[in-house]
Amino acid sequence: MPSPFISKRAPIYQNVPEEKWNDWRWQLSNRLNSAEDIEKVLPLTESERKALQTQGIFRVDVTPYYISLIDPTDPEDPIRKQIIPRSEEMQAFTAMMEDSLAEDKHSPVPGLVHRYPDRVLMLVTTQCASYCRYCTRSRIVGDPGQTFKREEFEMQIEYLKRTPQVRDVLLSGGDPLVLAPKILEELLTRLREIPHIEIIRIGSRVPVFMPMRVTQELADMLQKFHPLWLNIHVNHPNEISLELEQAADRLTRAGIPLGNQSVLLAGVNDCVHAQRDLVQKLVRIRVRPYYLYQCDLVEGAGHFRTPIAKGIEIIEGLRGHTSGYAVPQYIIDAPGGGGKIPVMPNYLLSMSDHKAIVRNYEGYITTYEEPTEYKIHDPKTCKFCQNKRPEPGQTGLTGLLDGDEMFIKPENFDQLHERGGIQHRLKDASKWKPLGIGDSAE
Ligand SMILES: *Cc1c(COP(=O)(O)O)cnc(C)c1O
Repeated sequence: MPSPFISKRAPIYQNVPEEKWNDWRWQLSNRLNSAEDIEKVLPLTESERKALQTQGIFRVDVTPYYISLIDPTDPEDPIRKQIIPRSEEMQAFTAMMEDSLAEDKHSPVPGLVHRYPDRVLMLVTTQCASYCRYCTRSRIVGDPGQTFKREEFEMQIEYLKRTPQVRDVLLSGGDPLVLAPKILEELLTRLREIPHIEIIRIGSRVPVFMPMRVTQELADMLQKFHPLWLNIHVNHPNEISLELEQAADRLTRAGIPLGNQSVLLAGVNDCVHAQRDLVQKLVRIRVRPYYLYQCDLVEGAGHFRTPIAKGIEIIEGLRGHTSGYAVPQYIIDAPGGGGKIPVMPNYLLSMSDHKAIVRNYEGYITTYEEPTEYKIHDPKTCKFCQNKRPEPGQTGLTGLLDGDEMFIKPENFDQLHERGGIQHRLKDASKWKPLGIGDSAE
């Protein structure tokens, strides 16, 4: 099928030779970061100029490739808003946090976040190809002084070696694909030497900011480390160019399954129709929408936040209306380290002991007759049940269903409920007369 996607270059780059434009190192060293530079590509608004001239704002950098995707005549362009700071970025809001996901608290060694039972997040660099204004890790990202050191990397590897329950390592940062090729290869080699690590994942926005980094050489190097998965980060259909399509093609041909993680952003992609266009274009380039995140409560991102209802509305507009492959899971990454929580419209309307009432995307309401003779699954004869290894404190509701636990209690529950009211009365029960009708309960 012919590609519907196009290639763009801002007028100031028209005379850059092909070899330079397609060289990722050229793209990196020609990034734009000042009001003066950016003004050569697009006329700045007052708000943008003010933000760019403010000391201490989160790092600004845009590749020539990515800035070329912006329509310079549109101050509300969805790519522009993701990458050019505005004065709203300096506004505080209620519940704003520096480390909203409490990642630092979950780090057994610097740069390694072990939040879930069988997988870890490994922050391998603080550098990116360009900087998203709503970055959830703006507390460390962009700062070259905070980059991880060799000793820290060795500590991360040591931790992984002695933690056999980790079977999945997710490399992120910063962006792992801006690392020097040799360093990245060494990192992957060291991880692959650990036998209990089954899958390696990379989270990267490089294919979006700088698709020329995805050379055949990179794809060939990555495929030595299978099973390896990669998630990209596209928020708007305008980000899907001919170059991104080609980069995705190179990666999928190397056997790397591609997923996409988007962030729901006010004024960028808070539209059911834009989202539908986005996810359909993603599956066209063989990228499976994975997560759509509710915007985190992070400093600088206040003006990007939407109500949760917007996310529900988007999923309502996708499920059933388009290919199931194109529908991401909508996720709230709960503040304070609560982790990822899926949220979705309700499809189960009611139940009786033999019937469920469900509705579809069209509003058609129907019933599902439940089996009357279900032979209950027997854990005693199931080899998977026999081999289960319960992890204390992490079984969650599964533990309740399994019968391993009877309840989950909020902190201080026991103290609170031992205040003595009921027990005290029962002790002196003889002093209490039953209340008769008409007695006053003084
Ligand atoms: C998101 C995340 C993961 C991966 O979660 P999945 O739901 O498996 O994609 C792992 N660790 C941390 C700390 C994360 O934030």
